[in-house]
Amino acid sequence: MSESPAELVKAVRAAYDRGVTRPVEWRIEQLQRMSAMLRESERSFLGALSADLGKPSFEGYATELGFLLKELHDARANLPKWVKAKRVKAPLAVKPGHADLVPEPLGVALVIAPWNYPVQLLLAPMIGAIAAGNAVIGKPSELTPRVAELLAERVEEYLDPEAIRIVTGGVPETTALLEERFDHIFYTGNGRVGRVVMEAAAKHLTPVTLELGGKSPTIIDRSADVRTAARRIAWGKFLNSGQTCIAPDYVLVHEDLEFRFLDEMQQAIDGFFGSDPQRSADYGRVVNTHHHRRLMGLLGEGDVVIGGTGDEGDRYIAPTVLRNVALDDPVMQEEIFGPILPVIPVPDLRHAIDIVNAREKPLALYIFAEDRSAVDQVLAHTSSGGVCVNHTIMHIAVPDLPFGGVGESGMGGYHGKASFDIFTHYKPVLTKPSRPDPSVAYPPYGPVKTGILRRLMS
Ligand code: NAD
Repeated sequence: MSESPAELVKAVRAAYDRGVTRPVEWRIEQLQRMSAMLRESERSFLGALSADLGKPSFEGYATELGFLLKELHDARANLPKWVKAKRVKAPLAVKPGHADLVPEPLGVALVIAPWNYPVQLLLAPMIGAIAAGNAVIGKPSELTPRVAELLAERVEEYLDPEAIRIVTGGVPETTALLEERFDHIFYTGNGRVGRVVMEAAAKHLTPVTLELGGKSPTIIDRSADVRTAARRIAWGKFLNSGQTCIAPDYVLVHEDLEFRFLDEMQQAIDGFFGSDPQRSADYGRVVNTHHHRRLMGLLGEGDVVIGGTGDEGDRYIAPTVLRNVALDDPVMQEEIFGPILPVIPVPDLRHAIDIVNAREKPLALYIFAEDRSAVDQVLAHTSSGGVCVNHTIMHIAVPDLPFGGVGESGMGGYHGKASFDIFTHYKPVLTKPSRPDPSVAYPPYGPVKTGILRRLMS
């Protein structure tokens, strides 16, 4: 970094203050350029994702580049509508006059991203910030260094460097940035650092969005279609080698279905990745040795029924399923964030709900059931950032369902218009004509005016 964080934020703020980011044309142009950047550098991005995470190119396109291109398209198409002031009802007491909510940008935003979807999780919030007319600084994760370097290089080349910047680096660089004043901070990552971010933001009264993680439970009701459940759980769990914030973390299966489910899991894994997943072109790798060792260390308790092998040099861990796991084993205490799936039998739905509720509120919850009343029972008695019924992960692909956590899994939701809203202040504006100007509103008041007031306000 040639400039200090203080100088960088100052320069970006100066551009914001000059009004660089306000015109809708500028915003649309930046969004168009970002699309061009992703299209024209597709091979480089897929290559960097493969180098950092062993990410298969199908996954890289589906969950990062393609996802972003869709967000960019929707933001560009809807922006003229989003930036319009919204007329709201004005009560009789303020008539004549009209009331509007006028969207205005917040100012300078900071986006801090993690390593598991390193392109998507940096650029998706930046799309919201840019669409809403903010200047923005993005900080990619240092744990995916090739992606971070590529983002820094391409963003500088394609986007307006006066108002859109990338800062690379790790904890010292992020810490230095967090000392500066921003108008919004959007952080994705773990809850420990989420607290660091919120504390730093509090010094400047800066609002925050925190996209955190947690143990996302997956409930299989007695009425579930077990084969489909197993395929969809295997897909969602082993995508990106389990390093997905909304990956099914553990399964609570009705005890009558446990062995059928385990059998179907084996078939699903064999069908997806063959008999040796290490040789499959469609199976990713663990991000680094530290996480590889952490994950292999979780295999100490319970019985391995599928997988369980690892190759540290290749950062490979086989798709792994465990049974006979105790609720207080480490694998059931921390977010797994890797390709290990504990399966716990439960006698009924009530037990499953109690296990979920004994833990922090998760980012996602999955329920597989053909019986609608089972789904309703789970929805009514649990709290989670989001829910997907009879599938995993897919709720993230609905732009009109704001994606985010609740409680320990975070605060604030984004994607689609919700991203625009996060970086927008809806300024309430009441406009009144100068005439008429009846004296009824002014002192002296007396009983007649009081009577009118009471009628108007009832
Ligand atoms: P990470 O280690 O890459 O950290 C995220 C960012 O925080 C990085 O940019 C890093 O530089 C910065 N950072 C790390 N330590 C810091 C410190 N002490 N002070 C300031 N900044 C610091 O990623 P991670 O936290 O390991 O990511 C994994 C977690 O993120 C999981 O818990 C996962 O569930 C969660 N996650 C959530 C979402 C979501 O959308 N809610 C998405 C992906 C990941």
